[in-house]
Amino acid sequence: MARRKAPAPPPPAWPVEWYRFKLGTSEWRVLLSTPEHSPQLVDAEGYCQQSKSTIWLDATLPADRLADVAFHEKLHAVLFHFGIAKAQRWDDDAEERFISHLAPNLTAALASAGLLAMPPLPALPGAA
Ligand SMILES: [Zn+2]
Repeated sequence: MARRKAPAPPPPAWPVEWYRFKLGTSEWRVLLSTPEHSPQLVDAEGYCQQSKSTIWLDATLPADRLADVAFHEKLHAVLFHFGIAKAQRWDDDAEERFISHLAPNLTAALASAGLLAMPPLPALPGAA
């Protein structure tokens, strides 16, 4: 008798969850996808979907850029979640300018202290 092999798990499909993080008591998801599969990413390398506590990232970015964009979008999540942008009466442009100045300097400072580790990337659709 030949035993059947267990069926292979289905290949992952876009979007792929990379990791989750908490802001206060809210849990946020970080999803990887592509512009081809997620309209949120057609004109953006990343997108902070506040209404669903979800961050979308373009999985086709190089790893170092992906980490930078993930950090940038997490800052949007923090400003939204804790009401900081609203309290400052920032419109989207003002918030973007603030984050664009803060993110690279903060990531450099954290990275210089070894505090910017990212979880390993998950298996992605189409990857061998
Ligand atoms: Zn932004």
